[in-house]
Formats: sequence, structure tokens, C-alpha cells
Amino acid sequence: MKKNIIAGALVALAALCSCEKQHQVGIVAHRGYWQCEQGGGAHNSIAALAAAQDLGFWGSEFDVNMTKDGELMVYHDSEVNGMYFKDYNAADFADIRLCNGEKIPTLDEYLTQFEKNKKCRLVFELKWHATPELERQAVELSIEKLKAHGLFNPKQVIFISFSFNQCKLFSQLAPGFTVQYLGGDQEHNPDVCFENGINGIDTGYWIMYKDPSWYQKARSHGMSVNVWTVDSIDDMRKCIEMGCDYITTNKPEECRALLKEMGVKELKAGKNL
Ligand code: MG
Repeated sequence: MKKNIIAGALVALAALCSCEKQHQVGIVAHRGYWQCEQGGGAHNSIAALAAAQDLGFWGSEFDVNMTKDGELMVYHDSEVNGMYFKDYNAADFADIRLCNGEKIPTLDEYLTQFEKNKKCRLVFELKWHATPELERQAVELSIEKLKAHGLFNPKQVIFISFSFNQCKLFSQLAPGFTVQYLGGDQEHNPDVCFENGINGIDTGYWIMYKDPSWYQKARSHGMSVNVWTVDSIDDMRKCIEMGCDYITTNKPEECRALLKEMGVKELKAGKNL
């Protein structure tokens, strides 16, 4: 009898372990799902974010720059029409339009859209800022804005940045949150990220191919692994087979179809690995 109980417990444990090991992949729409009718072809637009939310992707990535007067705006490049965000006030960008007719969203406007469907994870990229002081200001302001919108929650947002310094600041000021370093430089390889309290990587997929130890190093520290920007089916397949947690792509519906074809479970919006 006792033996049967022990054997039963072992079977249950094995089943649990196999469940835990089941590979799931979260799809992150790069700059929102802009490459569809609803997204209007406009990167980082409210419409593209709404499309990612409506289609139930795990996350939606977006880029944040800080203006001279300390406003956070959602836009990829550091300048628009030759006007650098760092040199101009938010009001100076008021008349500029994205290709779908929207104006450049402030972070407040963008977060207001996120609030409408909180299942979609914010994949918050804070762009470089010119000095350590400005980087600290931008990180603190980002956290303040998220708090004001009720989104400052590890189950609601992950932070990404090419600035190693900003990643370290997010790790310090937002403990318990996922923070992923975007760079692929050896100086900041996953061992160095981990030593500095950064708990994830978001790496260009070709770097993973060139140096397979990159992935292994991250996994040896229990770090999360995201890859960008994976748009071809072949590369998506390779990254999924490698075991990546998240695929950041401009073609999220194609990635969804591929996961289905491969029999790999898609991590649903609102769920954690
Ligand atoms: Mg980005």
C-alpha cells in the first residue's frame, strides 16, 4: 500500500515536471501590430497597439523618448523631421502626423489605450538618453507614469533598453519586474547582465546564431529570453526550436500560424510563463 502511494506520488511529480517543461512562446508585436489594416501601417500608433490587443497577442512593444521639457513620447527614432526630442518641447511635435493621420502619442495617451485591455503586456522600450542624469529622469518618469495609469505591475509590463545603464536602473527601481537588455555586445553579455541584476535578454536573433553560448549563458542564470526582430518564417522556426520565450516580430499573425503548425503552445495574453 505504502509502495503504491509512493509510486503514485512519483507519477504525479513526473507529470507536473513534464507540464512545467512544456515550451510556450509569447508573441510580441513589434511597435504594435502596425502591418495590418487596423494598424494602418503606422509604427507605434494607438491604432497599431489596439490591433495587437484585439488579436490577443501576449505583448506589444513600443519605443519611448523624452523631450526637452520632460514629456515622454512614443516614437522610435530620436528625431522626427530633423527635430531631436532632447532639443524640443512636446508642444513642438503637436502638428506632426503619423502615416495613418494620428499625432505622435504621448506616453500618457498610449497608456490610456493599454488600460482598455490590460491582458496585453507592455513591452516598454526606453530609448537612449544623453547623460546618466537624463537616463535616471527618464526611468523615474516612466515608472511614475505607469503608476498613475495603474499599470506598474510585473504582470503588466516588462522593460527593455539598449542602454545598459537604464536596464540597471529599472532593475533597481522596479524590483520583481522583468528587465531585458537589448544589446549584443560582449561587454554586456548575459553573464554581465546577470551580475548587474538584469534578469532577461532581448537579443538580435543573428547574435544567437553566431554565438550559441549567448543563449546558454542566459539560461544558466534562469534569465528570460526574447529575440528581435524576427520576421522570416525560417528565423521564427529556428528561434522557437532554440527555446526562446518570446518572439518579437512585425508579423505576429504569421508567427501564430507557425506555432500552431509546429504544435508549440502560444502563451496567451494575460498569462505568465
Ligand atoms: Mg523598439
